[in-house]
Amino acid sequence: MNQDYIQAADWSIIEKGFDADRVKSSESLFSLGNGAMGQRNNFEEYYSGPTFQGSYIGGVYYPDKTRVGWWKNGYPEYFAKVLNSPSWIGINVKINGEQLDLFTCKKVENFQRELNMKEGWYMRSFVATMPNDIEVEVKATRFLSLVKDELGVINYEVTPLNANVEVEFSPYLDSGITNEDTNWEDQFWETLEVEAVNNRGFITSKTLKTEFHVCTFMHTELLLNNEKQNVDFSTEKEAQKVTFTYNFSVNKGEKVTLKKLGGYVKGMNHPNGNLIEATQDLLNEVESHSVEELLQEQADAWAQVWKMSDITIEGDVKAQQGIRFNIFQLNQTYSGKDARLNIGPKGFTGEKYGGSTYWDTEAYCLPFYMATKDQEIAKNLLAYRYNQLDKAIENAEKLGFTKGAALYPMVTMNGEESHNEWEITFEEIHRNGAIAYAIFNYHRFTGDFSYIPEKGLEVLIGIARFWQQRATFSTQKNKYVILGVTGPNEYENNVNNNWYTNYIAKWCIDYALENIDKVKTEFSSDYERISAKTNITSEELEKWKAVADQMYFPYSEEHGVFLQQDGFLDKEQTTVADLPKALRPINQHWSWDRILRSPFIKQADTLQGFYFFEEHFSKEELEKHFDFYEPFTVHESSLSPCVHSIQAAVLGRMEQAYEFYLRTSRLDLDDYNKEVEEGCHITSMAGTWMSIVEGFAGMRVRDGKLSFAPQLPKEWKGYSFKINFRNQILKVEVTEDNTNFTLDGNGSMTVLLNEKEVEVNSAVKI
Ligand code: BGC
Repeated sequence: MNQDYIQAADWSIIEKGFDADRVKSSESLFSLGNGAMGQRNNFEEYYSGPTFQGSYIGGVYYPDKTRVGWWKNGYPEYFAKVLNSPSWIGINVKINGEQLDLFTCKKVENFQRELNMKEGWYMRSFVATMPNDIEVEVKATRFLSLVKDELGVINYEVTPLNANVEVEFSPYLDSGITNEDTNWEDQFWETLEVEAVNNRGFITSKTLKTEFHVCTFMHTELLLNNEKQNVDFSTEKEAQKVTFTYNFSVNKGEKVTLKKLGGYVKGMNHPNGNLIEATQDLLNEVESHSVEELLQEQADAWAQVWKMSDITIEGDVKAQQGIRFNIFQLNQTYSGKDARLNIGPKGFTGEKYGGSTYWDTEAYCLPFYMATKDQEIAKNLLAYRYNQLDKAIENAEKLGFTKGAALYPMVTMNGEESHNEWEITFEEIHRNGAIAYAIFNYHRFTGDFSYIPEKGLEVLIGIARFWQQRATFSTQKNKYVILGVTGPNEYENNVNNNWYTNYIAKWCIDYALENIDKVKTEFSSDYERISAKTNITSEELEKWKAVADQMYFPYSEEHGVFLQQDGFLDKEQTTVADLPKALRPINQHWSWDRILRSPFIKQADTLQGFYFFEEHFSKEELEKHFDFYEPFTVHESSLSPCVHSIQAAVLGRMEQAYEFYLRTSRLDLDDYNKEVEEGCHITSMAGTWMSIVEGFAGMRVRDGKLSFAPQLPKEWKGYSFKINFRNQILKVEVTEDNTNFTLDGNGSMTVLLNEKEVEVNSAVKI
């Protein structure tokens, strides 16, 4: 743990006391999003201290030309950057002509931020003594509407406490923004039009190269003691900015409020030439609503989300806060409403990772969305990859693969590879496996096979082709080997025969073959369409089979474990227990060369395979591998502790499982990896959900039925969650001495509880 200033609370994230050193971390932790847009928790008023400004629009990106020391053939031309977008939140405040700036105030008292996860809003309040000795109380509330996802709302209240004062509010829009992360210091946005009509301001701008058109807007109103005032204000238009300035005399103790509606209307959803009109329509629809009404609508919408996705934990506030924070952020990042969007590792909380799609979606996020949302939403996540299959084939062609072999990108916005470190772009090819695995996982969970003949099989064929062509026949070993790869553990590059990669490659081929047979016999017209499109031949299938049947897996007789890769045992066998704390995280202390030579494992690698393919191995095998690899693992990827937590739970090691759980669920709140200022780890938050549902509750799907093996961490009195299983909603409550199942609505469901069948009827508790 690296910080502990967040106050424990069931439904809120709370920070008390102002500390300029924490501002960037809190900007990440208090981020807001509604699936379509999101923003870091930057202050509305001017702030001269260190800050990381960030406001992001789903699906809008810039292809930043690749910058590398030495160009290698096959490098993608660009890295897709999630863009800091024109800002609509700004409200500069002057009191008696002096700028309110928390960084330069004489005193800041009663400072508090609250992110209310239950209702989906945040509030910041404080009493500041300004350099001119005026004391003001400020309360700023903000939220991004879940219902109208182009709209955000700010209610900014100022009350002078020790004098009658002149308050100046200057709400503005600003498109002259920059990214923290740029390769060439390029401008990413071009401002097209700055417009003001009455109390509404508009800036239309477009991203350079990708030409995403966006109208950033504001609509402002002034209230005194909650009464709307018709006051004059001035309007100033600049090349990239529009500002309204309100001046108002306010008596001591009176409250003056600026209501600011703002947000983005984007060309992805409206004709580019029509964005200001579309914005006017939106504002006409909402302007008569008070902030209270809009807040109520927001609370109702979040209540619906929580109704299905909440996990309750009895007796451990920090754990409760942790899981809710994770579930809240996942829902802020991806709502599933727009199938063109996906789940970036930092969501809308920072720029790192390009805000784009990684294997994280399939490997970690899918189970959460499958179980807590409508089935269609999980299907959309699969279809996202189907829609990008042509690009995955092109991507493989660029690297020399042929005949429809598909290599999905490590990082993407539109299907093209946009990552450019050779050891990852070219070598971290295991990502292809997760995409096939997600199809299997979706079918296993939902029972919906229709996706496979409709779309999935084409993806499986492209992926199997890739693996067959990527494997090399070793005459030395008389086996197929896969050379020059990076496994999930990115602290090893360019290794031969990463066990996880070889295992999933074989599995992908076997799974594709199995489904080809099934579709051929049960969906013959689909099969005809697919075989005509893919030109699959029986000779080709023979070649696949040869690779799958003769795949090589490195194994140590001495330890009785599969080896993470060839030569793993040549490494110095020191464990994490031997590493001084001061050297961790090693990626912030050691040279890359030293990391690569060390045995330390960044994240679950061999164990990731044991997680995906648990049923292929016995518990004893799992235990052996866990005991061998966990001591080398530094968990410096956020994706690591959740897998370990689930496996520790399977092994009945609840203390360890709980430790890993805390680490995953409070990774950002407690800043374990000393990097929360860059943004939150959104995709691993789905892993936290898995740690409870699959770890502690032991949920699996066995023969088309949900199966549970619940355990309770000793720190908890109980926990509960809901699962949408094949359109029936099952509530699971685990207490110290019991597990209760309840079913919503009519009907019944057979579940397995500790391997025994239990019949659950609606409203009947077991
Ligand atoms: C991990 C990858 C992951 C990426 C984005 C990296 O640190 O090693 O497995 O895909 O972060 O979350």
